[in-house]
This record gives sequence, C-alpha cells and structure tokens, in this order.
Amino acid sequence: MPELPEVETIVRDLNAKIRKRIFVDVWTDSPKIIKKPENFELFKKGLKGRGIENIRRRGKNIIFNLSDGKVLLVHQKLTGHFLLGKWQKTNNHWIPPKGPLSDKINTYIHLIFFLDNGKMLALSDLRKFAKAELWDKGELENSKEFNLLGPEPLSPSFAFNDFKERFKGKKGKIKKILMDQRLLVGIGNIYSDEILFAAKISPLRDVSQLSEFELKRIYKATKKILSLAIRLGGESFSDYRRIDGEKGYYDKARKVYRKTGEPCPGRCGGVVKRIKIDGRSAHYCPSCQK
Ligand SMILES: [Zn+2]
Repeated sequence: MPELPEVETIVRDLNAKIRKRIFVDVWTDSPKIIKKPENFELFKKGLKGRGIENIRRRGKNIIFNLSDGKVLLVHQKLTGHFLLGKWQKTNNHWIPPKGPLSDKINTYIHLIFFLDNGKMLALSDLRKFAKAELWDKGELENSKEFNLLGPEPLSPSFAFNDFKERFKGKKGKIKKILMDQRLLVGIGNIYSDEILFAAKISPLRDVSQLSEFELKRIYKATKKILSLAIRLGGESFSDYRRIDGEKGYYDKARKVYRKTGEPCPGRCGGVVKRIKIDGRSAHYCPSCQK
C-alpha cells in the first residue's frame, strides 16, 4: 500500500502537472470505487467542469481542492496508483502510450479523469480497493473519519512531546502502534519496519515498556526515514509507481523490509528475520533491534 512518502510524492507531482486544470469528464468500469455521492452518475455530474485549485495530502489520502468549495478525496488503498498520460480506447480497453505507462503494473486502469488539456489522470488498481469521494469542503473537514486521523509526523510543529503524548497510556506492540492512523498518520507495513530498524527497537516491544530515550529514537527515525523516502520518490517493490509510471528509488535505501535471511545491513552479524505480528509481517534484526 502506498504510505506517506509515496502519497506525498504523487501529490507533489500532481501539483506540478495538473494544478489549475479542469475536470471535463470521468470514466469508470468499476463504479464501486466511487463511495460518495451514492452513484457514479452523480459523482460525474458533481465533478464535470470543476477546476483544480490545488492538491494536498492528509495521511494517505489525496485531496483535490476544487472550484466552488468541492473536494475530491482519493485513497489508493492496497494497489491503486495515479498515472498521468494519454490512453486510446479500443474494444473497451485503454491502450497506454509506449514507455513506462505500458508496464504491466500500470495497465489496470479502472478510473479516468479527463482534463481540459487533453491529458488523462488515470487510476491503475489491480485489486480495485481504492476509493474516490466527492465532498463539500466543510463537510469533509468536520467528518468523523477525518477528525479521527492523528497528526502528520513530518509537520514541523509535531514535536517530540506531542509524539510522546500520543503513546501515553497505550498498550500494544510498537510496530502495530506506529501503523495506527488515529495515533499518527501515514505509516504502514514498510516504513514501520524501516523506522524501527533505524531506531534499533524490536517491533515486538510493548509501547508501554519503552523508555523516553527509546521513544525519542523512534521519533527521530520516523522523521528521518519518511523524509529520506520522499526525497527518493517512494518505494516501488509494491504496486506503487510515480505518475509518469516510473519507479521510486527507496528500494536502494531499504534496510530490512522484505530482506528476510539477508545479513543485517547494520553489520552487527545478525540476520534479518520475518515474523507475524497480528497477521501482518514484520522484518527486523533480532541481534541489534532490542
Ligand atoms: Zn543487526
């Protein structure tokens, strides 16, 4: 699933490419992606003719601020990713242009937004779990779903004390706690592994047992790893690609995620191990993550 660095990369790329453009039409062969309003026809009617003022991120959500106080929210979920280009329709199939957009992973096109400059913003989504919703701006900001989201870990105002406060009185394995979007947004399976490796903390530790010094290491590692991943354009060993269809480069910086059986990159002599924590996989080095 795209996590904070991947969604942030998409949002930055979209702002550079499609700000001030107008949605002229929309197509889907999978209307269940549209969760709001209640059907695709209403969604299309509400979207057509609206200008894109800007695009921002909240947690793993992509938010398009549109003209006249409307907001388009897209959550890419497990395998969804936005692509920008021009496709040709033949026999109900969208034929991509040559180049990275024709890579297999980018060809599961189930939702297309047509722009006034002839370009298309397409969602490639193998599993079709993504969701798109059209909201009134005020309604979204006051919604329960939005108000339950925790703070943004990369916000400059998010200080160590805030981080510590979030976890106070909580119980549970730190790996799982880090992925709880109500406590902190944007972190999933990949970056929780990478953050805990950088902080040298075992994913199995209970958050209530961590010292202030250990929490501080996790706080610092969170900011460091997420910022690094944004600089590298995100990871691409999962389905995520950048909007031009190209891969992100975090793979080169990756330390433990899906490195089972490899020597510890911290050169402690240990070996990366994969375990299950509440049904999710965790990768870590048992020799140096305590
Ligand atoms: Zn190690």
